[in-house]
Amino acid sequence: MRKPIVLLFSAFILSSCAVNMGYDGKAFKSSYESITAQELKKHLYIVASDEMEGRATGSEGMKKAGKYLIAEYGKMGVSHPKVMTDFYQKIPSAYFGNRRGTTHPDSENILAYIEGSEKPEELIVISSHYDHVGKNKDGVVYNGADDDGSGTVALLELAEAFNKAKKDGKGPKRSILFLHVTAEEIGLQGSRFYTENPVFPLASTVVNLNIDMIGRSDPENEGKDYVYVIGSEMLSSELKTISEAANKKTTNLELNYKYDDPKDTMRLYYRSDHYNFAKNNIPVAFYFDGIHEDYHKTTDDPEKIDYELLQKRTQLVFATAWELANRDARIIVDGKNTR
Ligand SMILES: [Zn+2]
Repeated sequence: MRKPIVLLFSAFILSSCAVNMGYDGKAFKSSYESITAQELKKHLYIVASDEMEGRATGSEGMKKAGKYLIAEYGKMGVSHPKVMTDFYQKIPSAYFGNRRGTTHPDSENILAYIEGSEKPEELIVISSHYDHVGKNKDGVVYNGADDDGSGTVALLELAEAFNKAKKDGKGPKRSILFLHVTAEEIGLQGSRFYTENPVFPLASTVVNLNIDMIGRSDPENEGKDYVYVIGSEMLSSELKTISEAANKKTTNLELNYKYDDPKDTMRLYYRSDHYNFAKNNIPVAFYFDGIHEDYHKTTDDPEKIDYELLQKRTQLVFATAWELANRDARIIVDGKNTR
């Protein structure tokens, strides 16, 4: 007579757990709300300050920005993957070769990690690049506040939010890697290096959510709460559905699919770090705000960022990653790599 009671009881626990991991649960809400415009702004004014000298690949300024990120992870109590001795995945200069007419110094990807509570071997990768293009010939700094300071600071807030959930006893079931890649601006080299030297097997990498420029608006969307989402239905039919449901239940942004076509003349599907994951048949979603007047100019500055919108877009990535990390089955790969 005891067994059925135990079964019923555990079924009850399971179902109440499932409810609490949803968007209506306390754990989700308080973590979601911990992502704030104020904190994003505080981080971005540092990451995109003149002190970081435009974060050219391997430069002193970039290393300084990297140290800031690591110090922030330290403060929130988030560490690097256990298999690494520190946060750095070093890339030798020789790997980059001669790109954009010059060689580039040694450089580092920076990896922060939260281990999953139930399926630690399955991995969600959230990425953004922390390099930019340095200074112009007159020494004026390309601060790269939007490109990709915005994605860089979003990762800090996302890690803090997932870590808060973990502290509240509702940490992600799958593991999450916060991947700050280097050398994007010289041809997606940091993400290429990571996918060729993955710290966790690519076969157990469920998805890559890549953030590259989410703090501004392009002229045709001025004043709108929107974001371009690219690639989300290319490799997994489930990813776009999850992304749309997450948006509907939380941020309610206009998800714009204008560039979501590998044949689009802007070729954005190929133009940021997610592509190195997609190439390896890992489903991707790329979050992007469009091309604006300060794109790759010395005027891409922190005072031009819309911090409320940056907060909402970061929260959308959080809600999407939350579902991808906590749902029972990992998303299926049923689409084709279109190359
Ligand atoms: Zn970029």
